Order: sequence, then C-alpha cells, then structure tokens
Amino acid sequence: MKIRFWGVRGSIACPGPQTIKYGGNTTCIEIRTDENDLIILDAGTGIFPLSHTLFGELPLTCHIFITHTHWDHIQGLPFFIPTFIPGNTVRLHGAFDPINNGDLREVLSRQMEYCYFPVREAELQANMHYVTLRERQTIQVGSARVTNIFMNHPVLNFGYRVECRGKSVFFTGDHEPMTNVYDIEDDGFPEYQTLMDQKHQSITEFIRGVDVLIADTSYTPEEYKTKKGWGHGTFDTSIHLGRETGAKHLFFTHHEPTRSDAALEKVFQEAMERHPRQPGDPVYHLAREGLIFEV
Ligand SMILES: [Zn+2]
Ligand SMILES: [Zn+2]
Repeated sequence: MKIRFWGVRGSIACPGPQTIKYGGNTTCIEIRTDENDLIILDAGTGIFPLSHTLFGELPLTCHIFITHTHWDHIQGLPFFIPTFIPGNTVRLHGAFDPINNGDLREVLSRQMEYCYFPVREAELQANMHYVTLRERQTIQVGSARVTNIFMNHPVLNFGYRVECRGKSVFFTGDHEPMTNVYDIEDDGFPEYQTLMDQKHQSITEFIRGVDVLIADTSYTPEEYKTKKGWGHGTFDTSIHLGRETGAKHLFFTHHEPTRSDAALEKVFQEAMERHPRQPGDPVYHLAREGLIFEV
C-alpha cells in the first residue's frame, strides 16, 4: 500500500509562509492498494489538490471514507472534481448523523445548497453512492478491507483500519483518549471508569499490530489542560497509543493551525525528549503534506 498525505491540519486551512514545509490543508489521506485501487480518508481541503492528479485515470472509481462531518474533514468535498464528470463512480462512506437524522447524502446536500455553493448535489454528474456504515462493518475495496471503530469525539467519529495483503494502516480521525467526566468522589465515577477502560481496551485491540498508525495529535500536554473534552489527542497520548498497540510507524497529524513549521518541529522534538526511545517503539514521524509512505 502507498499512503500520501494531502492535508495534515486540524480545524481550518492555514496556508502561508509559516506553514510551507508541513502544509496548510485540512485532513485528507490518499491510500493506493497494491492494485492501485483508490481509497481516500477524509475530504478536507487537501482533497482539492488530490483531485487534480486524477485526470489521467478517468473514468475512475474512488472510495471515500469520512471519519466525521466536522468542517475540516468535509470542506473539500464540493470541490472534488471527479464528482462533476460523467462516467466516474464515487462511493462515499460514513456514519449516520444522529443529530439531524440523516446520512452522508443529507450532509453533502446541505453543504451544497445554493447559499453555500453554486452546484447542487442533485446536479453531480458522477455515479454517486452513499454508504451508511455500521460500527465494525467491513467494506472490500479490491484486495483491501476497510473496517471502522467508533473513537472518542464530540460527534460520531470512525477510526478506519485499512488492510491489504498483510499490511495495515489505521487512521484515528479526531480522537481524544477516554476520560472520566466524573470527579473521583462522585457516585458514578467507578462505573464510568469501567466503561472507559473497556472502550479503551477495545480500541487498542482493534489497532493492535498495525504497520502505520496515523493519530490525532493536536496539542501539547500543556495546551491540553484548557482543551479537555474538545475531542483531540496530544503528542503524549499518541505516543502512548502507538506503544500500547505495537504500531510500527506512528504519524502525528491534525496539527494545530496556529503552529508554524518551526514551532511544530520544536514541540515534536520536546515530545521525543520526554519519551526517550524504548525497544519496540514505533518510528515517529510528523505528517507532512505531500509525504508518500509505502508499507
Ligand atoms: Zn478535525
Ligand atoms: Zn472533529
């Protein structure tokens, strides 16, 4: 499998001289299976430059998996050029939206209403297929299998495990490690803690042994103190997850949009110093726009 990062920022795109090295686009990851089947994880602004590379393989079939529908993970979707061209097939996968009682088609239709965008969803020329996934449902894409698990975020967020010919990649989407919302002296604390421990365990088992773990690493531990419950991880929680699951490579992503290239490298370096290498540790990487990694 080949992985290519097209967007590594959280929250909002942040192009400019301070972010040239790591990139300013929001979340989008391209995965090519060994047979060159196209899987796209999330449709942040990075999907727009990705779409420009696809003209040579039209008509195409692509399989887009949305972790969740926060803007930074879908805002490139109306600009995904293959949807405007007849003969292409676009299969969009994601969770049901319990807030508005709708599926991904609903979300995309609303995103493309006239007040937001000049072309309506009903006018798209590609064959559009919308697949509402159940938790742990497996979708076969050529020789690859894509399976999801609910992570911890303010809206339903799927983490996706992609497996192809014995190799595997897991992407958390947006994820904050399980935290107990009760104070330790509250009545509900022990029951809730048990639930959190079970959920953490099931996520860990699901990811175990993966070749590549791509993890939401929005904050430093210092920043996290004022951002608990926002649904994001830190360098330290991602390192912990990588070690616990036995991942071979760990990519930190969903970088803070206010963090310059130099600041990003500084907080990465500091994290490495807080956690000196141990035997069996993953190889740590900062995700960078344009980076290609083969597994
Ligand atoms: Zn996000
Ligand atoms: Zn989010």
